[in-house]
Amino acid sequence: MTSAVPGPRMLRSSEPDVERHREALADSGLLFSPPWTIRISARRRTVGFTVGPGGTVELTVPKGADPSAVVNVVRKHSDWLARTVARHVILTADNPIKEIVDGENFPLLGRNYRLRLVDDTADAALSRGNQLFIRRSHPQRVVGDIIEWYRDNGREWLADHVEGWAHRFGVVDARVAVRDLDNRWGVRDPDGTLALHWALFQLAPRLVEFVMVHELTHLAEPPHGPRFERVLSRVLPDHKSLAEELAVAGCSTWLGVVRLAAHPVTP
Ligand SMILES: [Zn+2]
Repeated sequence: MTSAVPGPRMLRSSEPDVERHREALADSGLLFSPPWTIRISARRRTVGFTVGPGGTVELTVPKGADPSAVVNVVRKHSDWLARTVARHVILTADNPIKEIVDGENFPLLGRNYRLRLVDDTADAALSRGNQLFIRRSHPQRVVGDIIEWYRDNGREWLADHVEGWAHRFGVVDARVAVRDLDNRWGVRDPDGTLALHWALFQLAPRLVEFVMVHELTHLAEPPHGPRFERVLSRVLPDHKSLAEELAVAGCSTWLGVVRLAAHPVTP
């Protein structure tokens, strides 16, 4: 990953090759923002992408490559790029990459649990004391089980807490869901369901509550604006400091990225 944000000099590169590639990409409708850095490499044989913090993209092109061939490669990867860029908008350098090993920390609602991989267990995931027992498996499978553990606990927490708050907004039968929301903490589905990101449930309950109340406020006052602020301030007077706290905590929240060792967890 590069942390370099393309500067104006790089964007107005006088290198004719870079300009040819830039034009070909623009002509094909593959426009991008923020503008990509294009680098010509004499050593590379293939087109490479580097997505950096904040969603910056550096495209490395082999020297002498045909611009239309490069356009095809970019088009083929455009879905992946869009997803990766969206993720990196919140995936700053601080978002941790975890390892699927005994002792790794997984906080739930602000309380820390240490991972223990176990061989014979009926449950895929089970927490007891300050330990999180997960069935030993391929790392990506273990990650799936851990995320499921967050989702289960998140749904349970919401079931206990949403009703009291929903009442204050005149909402009965509030429906809630916990899932991966990519770069958002909470959304309202078209059918009125409040959905919160599973990763949010790593944080302190007051921050989960803040996101939940923010989304409930939208049911009463759909657009952000002075009226929205008034409604939110009435029910949650310290919402501004909570928003700041969430912005800081969010930068170091685990989003499901793990380091895959050459030798996975099987002994
Ligand atoms: Zn909002």
